[in-house]
Amino acid sequence: MSIKDEKISRRTFLKGSAMLASIGVVAATGALSRSAYAGVPKAAMQYQDKPKNGQHCSNCIQFVPGASAKAAGKCKLVDGAISPNGWCAAYSAK
Ligand code: SF4
Repeated sequence: MSIKDEKISRRTFLKGSAMLASIGVVAATGALSRSAYAGVPKAAMQYQDKPKNGQHCSNCIQFVPGASAKAAGKCKLVDGAISPNGWCAAYSAK
């Protein structure tokens, strides 16, 4: 292998490494975006529209309140409209 071939190989290696790093960043960013916007189906989390043992969505750390205290809000984990009086298996007190 000549010096020229070695330089080309090194350049090719560096380009390949940079490309792999870029793919890793894009993949990680995609995973973060997906987890931030796509929730788990209600049924998978045993969601119900009523409290359970005094636990309800409005005092769960994952709850994002709606327009008023009684309005449906959203959940950082579970898909769809979430009742402030609802509950699911992922409940976690504030
Ligand atoms: S994680 Fe479950 S209990 Fe908590 S807000 Fe979301 S749906 Fe309600």
